[in-house]
Amino acid sequence: MTDTAIKPATISHWINGVSTPGTSGRSAKVYNPATGQMQALVDLASVEEINAAVAQATAAAKTWRLVPLSKRAEIMFRFRALMDAGRDDLARILTREHGKVHGDALGEIARGIENVDFACGIPNLLKGGYSEGASTGVDVYSIQQPLGVVAGITPFNFPAMVPLWMIANALACGNAFILKPSEKDPSASLFLADLLKRAGVPDGVFTVIHGDKVAVDAILEHPDIAAVSFVGSTPIARYIYQKGTEHGKRVQALGGAKNHMLVLPDADVNMAADAAVSAAYGSAGERCMSISVVLAVGDVGDDLVNAIASRLPALKVGPGSDAQNEMGPLISREHRDRVAGYIASAEADGATVVVDGRKQSFEGDGFFLGVSLLDHVKENMDAYKDEIFGPVLCVVRVPSYEEGLRLINENEYGNGTAIFTRDGGAARQFQFECQVGMVGVNVPIPVPVAYYSFGGWKASLFGDTHMYGPDGIKFYTRSKVITSRWPEPSSSKIDLGFPQNR
Ligand code: NAD
Repeated sequence: MTDTAIKPATISHWINGVSTPGTSGRSAKVYNPATGQMQALVDLASVEEINAAVAQATAAAKTWRLVPLSKRAEIMFRFRALMDAGRDDLARILTREHGKVHGDALGEIARGIENVDFACGIPNLLKGGYSEGASTGVDVYSIQQPLGVVAGITPFNFPAMVPLWMIANALACGNAFILKPSEKDPSASLFLADLLKRAGVPDGVFTVIHGDKVAVDAILEHPDIAAVSFVGSTPIARYIYQKGTEHGKRVQALGGAKNHMLVLPDADVNMAADAAVSAAYGSAGERCMSISVVLAVGDVGDDLVNAIASRLPALKVGPGSDAQNEMGPLISREHRDRVAGYIASAEADGATVVVDGRKQSFEGDGFFLGVSLLDHVKENMDAYKDEIFGPVLCVVRVPSYEEGLRLINENEYGNGTAIFTRDGGAARQFQFECQVGMVGVNVPIPVPVAYYSFGGWKASLFGDTHMYGPDGIKFYTRSKVITSRWPEPSSSKIDLGFPQNR
């Protein structure tokens, strides 16, 4: 069946609390990756549409910041209850547009809801400080105020969780929020919009604008947007950070990753193999916290590669809607072919293809690729250097802990890493020495809980604050310090000296 044989649905913007069809005349195709068929067209916003949406959000922000903290918390609790009830429906949307299997989609949603849990505590999170009697008759106190209108630009790989990293805290802090989701799987954002409205978020406080570079640039240039949170690939993250800050905005831009798992010779090989398989192939390797490189130290290499390889034939790859499948398709045909190209290039460069996902055949036109395991990968190979973002695990043999650490620290990215060992001292040394933002000790995917913050180092994050948790509250508020006194008017006099605290 061709694209034109299907009558596609249209996915519209969400402005001022209602579904709002686009007027730009431009749209993008949204596919079902499991069938390879186009299933909808998503409107792509023009600059004028962005400007109109920002105007609505600016007006809404003025009244939203007046809503008491207790009321904002109440709305978050209601949103949480609706999210909880909607897990299955949202998971099906994720599977349909992203391709991930239902269980994995439920996991994404659960981790997203954690951020709503955190935001439910907003009255406690926005408590300032107070110093009575900082000087004679003078009190000093701090308050945190919302920024106004803030925007989020999100990637395809977590269409629900990553927006929730931003939305929950930004709204609870009293901002209006404009979301520009990935145009590849845009429907989850509208599901969230509907739930937020039903939870009591006033119209205009939450906006969804679909779009491409035109919309992103309009957001970055708009004078009434105070801050931008971005999650996506490193080249775009760098661009967003540069352009956003040039236009006077606060920006946090999270980029790509190449996460290494260091396996010491004393590690439990079966546990390390289970962890490597789970973290490399879950969500078809399309996670920024996927393990894409295993560094096998010393003589653990052969046993570990055999243990990983022996697990792969049993993995079930197929449509995410089928409950028995553990891994779904990739996001697009082009991306699937690009990932397969890395297997070919590594093979040509001398790596050993232990398991070749290209050889697995699938029915239909879905964007499937089987799992691949590459051994004896070297530093100079593209498969090692680039973020592949697919179900390809590279094993690099290293002679020592020091050599493994060198590779991790010299890598351009610093999102996540993990060490597998039974030696507590080695693990402690590793957490101290590695130049990576999120570290797992016998934990392959160390995504922090919502009451810590998420963020990598080096080319995995541009900006000063990590995302969600305490850093999220800091990012979405501005602090103000008030120095106050209530003297007897009769004691007033002129004093040109610089005020001293006495
Ligand atoms: P992407 O960078 O292609 O797209 C991200 C967003 O930027 C989308 O909303 C997209 O519409 C927009 N965009 C794309 N090209 C643009 C351009 N030229 N100008 C302006 N905006 C543009 O990323 P993706 O493919 O959707 O997501 C995968 C990437 O995201 C991977 O690199 C992955 O590692 C990364 N990621 C990082 C994290 C993290 O926390 N560090 C989390 C999830 C994903």
